[in-house]
Amino acid sequence: MNNKLTPKQREHIGRVKMLPCSVCGKPGISDAHHIKQKLQFCVVALCRDCHNSLHGTKALWRVYKMDELDALNNTIENLVNQGLGNASKTDLNEF
Ligand SMILES: [Zn+2]
Ligand SMILES: [Zn+2]
Repeated sequence: MNNKLTPKQREHIGRVKMLPCSVCGKPGISDAHHIKQKLQFCVVALCRDCHNSLHGTKALWRVYKMDELDALNNTIENLVNQGLGNASKTDLNEF
């Protein structure tokens, strides 16, 4: 498969893969699941089990009562929290 990603898209997907699973919380490295092909910023961090479940019977997802948008929301929230963590560290260094 030929992936023509821009550097920013590649960077984003790399960060998503470092996140814990957005469904069950299992620590990364996670898979980056595309909700829609070619939407490189609509990717969800998933462990192998939750990823397999999503492309199969969705049994795990029913247990957690989640769909792909719920998982995307968790992924973005984790990214935002990560960013805040780095910012406050920088602030501390400046004092
Ligand atoms: Zn999972
Ligand atoms: Zn997938």
